Amino acid sequence: MNKRIDSIKGISCFTGEPINITIDKGRIQAVETLPETGDDKQKLISPGFIDNQVNGFASVSFTDENLTVDKVTSVTENLWKYGVTGYLPTLTTSSREQLLANLQVLAKAIKEDVNKNSIPGIHLEGPYISPEKGYRGAHPKKYIRKPDWEEFTGFQKAAQGNIIQITLAPEIEGSLKFIEHCVENGIVVALGHHNGSAQEIKSAVKAGARIATHFGNACANYINRHKNPLWPQLANEELSLSLIADGIHLTEAEINVFYKAKGIDKIILTSDVTKFAGMPPDNYEWNGQQVKLTDEGRVLLTAENMLAGSAIPLLRGLETFRAYTDCSLSEVIQTVTHNPSELYHLKNSGAIAAGNTANLVQLRAEEKIEVEKTIIKGELVYEKV
Ligand SMILES: [Zn+2]
Repeated sequence: MNKRIDSIKGISCFTGEPINITIDKGRIQAVETLPETGDDKQKLISPGFIDNQVNGFASVSFTDENLTVDKVTSVTENLWKYGVTGYLPTLTTSSREQLLANLQVLAKAIKEDVNKNSIPGIHLEGPYISPEKGYRGAHPKKYIRKPDWEEFTGFQKAAQGNIIQITLAPEIEGSLKFIEHCVENGIVVALGHHNGSAQEIKSAVKAGARIATHFGNACANYINRHKNPLWPQLANEELSLSLIADGIHLTEAEINVFYKAKGIDKIILTSDVTKFAGMPPDNYEWNGQQVKLTDEGRVLLTAENMLAGSAIPLLRGLETFRAYTDCSLSEVIQTVTHNPSELYHLKNSGAIAAGNTANLVQLRAEEKIEVEKTIIKGELVYEKV
């Protein structure tokens, strides 16, 4: 049984003021500003983090065979250690049968008390993406297909309505109509693993696409300097960007340009973390492919020398983004709290405010950011020892 927390004191990560938060029945009852006490300035309180792309953790992959509710729970518990109180399990391109089976497991896991509402929904990345090399990334070509609303309806049924985001390619035949259906059904449409033209991107956003998945990645290494999928997405004011700021997927200059072009309100940091997070560096076999996990946390498909997701938790991405851009701590925290809460319409979340669910993280933030306590619905689910 986890310890109940009735109140917690610290410095608000947003205002920099000392605050006392009282908690009742899993909700924030009141937030009181305290007089300056000279307390430890590095001891901060933040809303719990939300990670919109988690493929797995510590040898569990959500797309692999034999997924179980217990395995999902082990990922949830691992993420709590890094301050993540909400995440979107992400299923990547696979066979229809595999996706249906795993969506059913995820739907069951969402209902389990042990996961404590840490899964606000599921992210389906694929299978309706570009089959082109470079753009499809590590997604197996044989399972990539055209958007099929009937098939997707089956996925959503298996998921008991829990799919809240789909990543697709706007240039694939039938995608516009598909995007419209998604929007009508309240599903966030993300553009990713695509080689869409300026017009195709514009039309997709007009139809309701709202975010670019791991922007700057899943793109060919050599592109036309004028006509490529990056500029039109960067220029489009409606489109947010999800960024993997693990120090591996994007350079410092790229992150700076994306931050400056979009502004902090349109950035969502994500981990794209895979089963290799928390595993020792080695060579592994994964779905019939050789994968190398390097000492610095690079996950490489050995045959193609290509990145296949990350092994670095979201928390480290916050540090990297802050160091690269020189933004404030409150800005970087906004990208994993307020911004995803808004995009996914998560109620009572993403801010330290009376009435909100008491999902909170106590942090120590100097150059590194360390999680000291993670609280979900007023229960202490992780404490650093
Ligand atoms: Zn991807």
